[in-house]
Amino acid sequence: MTDDDTIVVIGAGITGLTAAHTLSAQGRRVTLLDAADRVGGRILSSPFAGHMVDCGADAFLARVPDAVELCRELGLDHLLTSPASSSAHVWTAGALRRLPAGLVLGVPTDLEALGDSGIISADGLARAAEDLDRTEWPEGEPGPDPEGADDRSVGDLVRSRLGDEVFERLVAPLLSGVNAGDADVLSLATGAAQLAAAARREPSLIRSLRQQQEAARASGADPQAPVFAGLPGGTQMLTDTLRAELERRGGDLRLGVAATGLRHEGHRWMIDTTEGTLPAAAVVLALPAAPSARLLAPHAPEGAAELARLEYASVAMITLAVRRADLACDLDGSGFLVALTDRLPALTACSWASSKWAHLADPDIAVLRVSAGRHGDTAALALDDTALTEAIAADLTTTMGLDGPLLEVRITRWDDALPQFRPGHLGRVRALRAELDAGPPGLVVAGAAHDGLGIPSCVRQARNAVQHLAEQGF
Ligand SMILES: Cc1cc2nc3c(=O)[nH]c(=O)nc-3n(C[C@H](O)[C@H](O)[C@H](O)COP(=O)(O)OP(=O)(O)OC[C@H]3O[C@@H](n4cnc5c(N)ncnc54)[C@H](O)[C@@H]3O)c2cc1C
Repeated sequence: MTDDDTIVVIGAGITGLTAAHTLSAQGRRVTLLDAADRVGGRILSSPFAGHMVDCGADAFLARVPDAVELCRELGLDHLLTSPASSSAHVWTAGALRRLPAGLVLGVPTDLEALGDSGIISADGLARAAEDLDRTEWPEGEPGPDPEGADDRSVGDLVRSRLGDEVFERLVAPLLSGVNAGDADVLSLATGAAQLAAAARREPSLIRSLRQQQEAARASGADPQAPVFAGLPGGTQMLTDTLRAELERRGGDLRLGVAATGLRHEGHRWMIDTTEGTLPAAAVVLALPAAPSARLLAPHAPEGAAELARLEYASVAMITLAVRRADLACDLDGSGFLVALTDRLPALTACSWASSKWAHLADPDIAVLRVSAGRHGDTAALALDDTALTEAIAADLTTTMGLDGPLLEVRITRWDDALPQFRPGHLGRVRALRAELDAGPPGLVVAGAAHDGLGIPSCVRQARNAVQHLAEQGF
């Protein structure tokens, strides 16, 4: 193999690491670049209160296979653990209220449980129940095209089918907990594909979701199977193991090296970097939208311009240790979300990490992972660390009755971290890929900016990118 065979992967987040690992496991010569001085991108774990505690992602969906399969391939599957407690709460009407059983991305399928939860009013419950009477699709439907052409927002669908209360107290908090954004303008196809599929199948969203659940049961799926999985050493175990595997196979990892330009010359790609120019047979771009769009602009001008318009939310993750005895609530669950109608000054969600994960359990100390900041509202993020900590402590007093000192605090600021997918996003991604395919072969894109955020989606996109290169003969 010559240098001309090298495939260069740009960006060493979970996407780029997975692509580089997959290529090197196939015997390809790989160079992996990252502008930062570490691998992992948006994934980071560090010691806190005597444990490894994640500063970002702490779990990944287990019901879609991609991330779990990658763990198996890396020999990490025996370590996988599921949350000790998965039942969450929502802060609404002055109290933490347990989410009812049967929610699918916040959409209720068990209206009795919803009524008992106290989360929505009698009128809100009656409005949600109207969905069950629907025998015809509302005008302008059936539903969105999942590929993006007729996509619309999650708010548009859920408000019209089940009313504002279900949307504002259940669906929007759950989805905002994932992308720190506004579910009223979130692409249904990208951000809530399961709801998009359900809305297309049946005029009643609740009936359609119940049918999905029944079909899953009939196919032998365990309804109690955990939705999420995590790694006791922190999610960074996954990215560290990918790095180690890549290096073990002789992959060339270059940290602190940013790609600044991308040209096609003869039959090769030339990558300009902060440390000189690298030739490559093919290139995988696994970057956030802005740097990716800059590199793509000469090769796919229209797609790059659309990608450059993708907005991101910045968030902060404030990890705290407090005495359990200083809390007025019993921490029976995985944490809480905040209803749109009951916003707090700083806190947007709180994970009860030491209850959620058995490996973080402690009889005396509670570890809390609190999120602040959302797309379009950066007031909390503008505070310095001291003021942000005070604001979060005040919100914990309001919600959980915190009355005591913060024993340990860690603040991780994630700037421009979470892409905000607007309706039609997947159509724009498809057009970008078509534009690239019409040009010289050997340039592919993958990662959270494209088919959706989250670890399983990024792993799947990395695999697809490698597969696409193989189909092009690389
Ligand atoms: C606070 C938080 C909590 C989250 N929680 C979860 C969760 O619980 N479960 C879940 O599944 N997902 C979660 N996510 C989402 C998930 O972490 C991301 O979707 C995923 O890690 C993105 O990976 P990526 O490879 O696409 O991009 P990134 O991780 O952003 O990696 C891109 C890499 O490109 C590098 N780069 C940028 N410009 C250049 C350049 N010019 N040249 C070279 N390198 C460059 C960057 O340094 C970075 O390392 C969370 C995200 C955040 C921020």
